[in-house]
Amino acid sequence: MEERIINCRLYQKLQNNEKLSTEDIKTLMNIVRKEINFLIRNNIILSPMNYERWFRIFCYLHETGKELTDLEILGLYKDVFFQDTETLNIPIDARPAGFVEKLKNVAETIDEKLLEIIKTIDNHQKEIDQHSLVIEVNKEKVKENTEISQALNIILKELEELKQQNSSLKEELKKYHIDIEKLKEELHQAKTEANIDFLTTLYNRRRFERALLDMLRDFKERGYPFSVVLLDIDDFKAINDKYGHPIGDLVLKEVANILKNYLRANSVSARIGGEEFGVLLPGVEVQDAVKIAERLRQIIENRHIRANGGFIKFTASFGVTQVKAGDTLNSIIERADKALYKSKQLGKNRVSVEV
Ligand code: GH3
Ligand code: MG
Ligand code: MG
Repeated sequence: MEERIINCRLYQKLQNNEKLSTEDIKTLMNIVRKEINFLIRNNIILSPMNYERWFRIFCYLHETGKELTDLEILGLYKDVFFQDTETLNIPIDARPAGFVEKLKNVAETIDEKLLEIIKTIDNHQKEIDQHSLVIEVNKEKVKENTEISQALNIILKELEELKQQNSSLKEELKKYHIDIEKLKEELHQAKTEANIDFLTTLYNRRRFERALLDMLRDFKERGYPFSVVLLDIDDFKAINDKYGHPIGDLVLKEVANILKNYLRANSVSARIGGEEFGVLLPGVEVQDAVKIAERLRQIIENRHIRANGGFIKFTASFGVTQVKAGDTLNSIIERADKALYKSKQLGKNRVSVEV
């Protein structure tokens, strides 16, 4: 189903290890530029699977010539990939970083080519300068002969134009070079998987904190708000004790899937402790964050997993807060923790807020 919705020729070519034409490489660079800018703009963190999926989205948009807003693109992503609950449950190491590896190789090849071209342009530039100089000198000599002198003027002008074109081309290429460098670095990061919680394939605490620091910087520099939601499964120890650890693991995965399916793609979901999860909601004020948390709480409450021939139900408690002036990583986590504690004290399976 997913294949039908977003076909992309270039992606297929990469998958089939077909040789890319110069035109393909240009297209690829354009797609990658758009993808990277979008991902950065929307605080979307990269994992190999994620990267590949977003590449396919942007490849599809490029090939169909569709112009969508960021919000529409996020919607498209959810439509295409999040119906596909099968793949969500595939453990991360069962999906090799093959595509990322391929892109990385292409990026490296492109980068080498780019540097070569930039060097060639540099040499070309010098040649043009030399030619211009020779012509200037000759012009002096043939001053009396207006025809020759006019012809030389035309050539000089053409050389000047050529030079202009060269330098704007060079600027363009340099931009590509910087993007490709960025891409290489990101692909490297994505490949290492150091940011992923293996059980749930959500981000881990480390990545969660890094994302929170990024958002905190955005808040300080641009006043861009965000909210934090912490959730902790209620009486999880009892679930483990009653049904066994592997069933406990299934519950953790189920909660993770709910977070993946329900939240917008630019939110950051992580397992930050044994049965504790954290969600970052960029651009979301606390009132809306509470609504989102309440919705998650209800979904969890109404969900069950089948095991040991029966249904297992579970609930979670929530703590919500919004970033405010003077916050640090610790102060904001402490506040969300305090709200979560309040929910536990008040009888669990509820949402509390701390401002
Ligand atoms: P509360 O409602 O107050 O949160 O009680 P609780 O039982 O959920 O909390 P408590 O901290 O007492 O127990 C958490 C349990 O989570 C204990 C630990 O064995 C279990 N746990 C931690 N990590 C994992 C995991 O990866 N898999 C499984 N199955 N259990 C885990
Ligand atoms: Mg708990
Ligand atoms: Mg806990």
